[in-house]
Amino acid sequence: MRRCSIRQWDSDSPVPRDELLKNVAGADGLFCLLTDKIDKAVLDQAGSGLKVVSTMSVGYNHIDIKECQKRNIPVGFTPDVLTDATAELTIALLLMTSRRLLEAAEQVKSGGWGSWVPLWMCGPGLSGSTIGILGLGRIGAAIGERLLSFRVSKILYSSRSPKEETAAKLGAEFVSFDKLLKESDFLIVSCALTNETRHIFNAQTFKMMKKSAILINTSRGDVIKQDDLYSALVHGEIAAAGLDVTTPEPLPTDDPLLTLSNCVVLPHVGSATVETRTSMAVLAANNLLAGLNNQPLVAQVEVS
Ligand code: NAP
Repeated sequence: MRRCSIRQWDSDSPVPRDELLKNVAGADGLFCLLTDKIDKAVLDQAGSGLKVVSTMSVGYNHIDIKECQKRNIPVGFTPDVLTDATAELTIALLLMTSRRLLEAAEQVKSGGWGSWVPLWMCGPGLSGSTIGILGLGRIGAAIGERLLSFRVSKILYSSRSPKEETAAKLGAEFVSFDKLLKESDFLIVSCALTNETRHIFNAQTFKMMKKSAILINTSRGDVIKQDDLYSALVHGEIAAAGLDVTTPEPLPTDDPLLTLSNCVVLPHVGSATVETRTSMAVLAANNLLAGLNNQPLVAQVEVS
């Protein structure tokens, strides 16, 4: 058995950039989180001995994959093990937002709960609604499966290419992004963050959505142009939004979005179950070890 020596940033706050650059020098492998930007400068600093980069996340938009490919450095990630937890959280956020659960619970604490009033704290129901999913990947499909039990009327989805097998199971229809915007009562974002999806929700696209629409984002914050979202929520271009991810993270406590009753913001807890985070850590460690031993990674990012 070979022994490894480990240089670890032993803190819950992200490793400062200068510490990362200093300590990555000469490393054979790099275990990172989504808060660590792994770009050309980090790879240059690591040097030619770097054999593997392993991230404890399924999203890899923080890693310059092209630079890794140029250097033949495999990148490991953690697909599948977090799918259920993230889908569950997405459903929770959807219900929190549509049924105004935070607002309602706050009313109990603040004394706003008076007698039973017919239209007090009402929101739209899922039953009979049209659901739109942007990105019918692993998590998008798991969200769709769960939504079927809420007796939704239709699931529409948009991805780069149709997902026939998954769509058949869900009875879902592949549509253009424009149609997804126009027809969804609840639009759920579960796509990867790429150059094409960055700011795909902006002033122009909010105007195409139903005024009654609810937007839920559990992918990455940069998919939404946040200033435009604020304006769309204030001017009633869409009804409400639920965000598990924002730009930046953490969202400053004086961010205007936090003043709105029709916006629910969670602190990026999509995969936050104990079992899931443990599985992610183990998978990321196994990817790292495989790379160090010149073996195929258990889960390797493949980008053409
Ligand atoms: P996945 O299986 O790779 O799914 C990603 C989906 O994004 C694919 O269906 C892909 O469609 C779609 N996509 C990519 N570019 C697109 C575009 N231009 N337009 C429309 N769709 C596009 O990944 P996953 O495991 O489901 O994870 C999805 C994302 O969720 C991750 O990348 C990560 O950012 C986020 N996430 C967040 C949390 C959290 O804590 N909130 C937890 C886990 C993951 P094609 O297959 O057609 O290319």
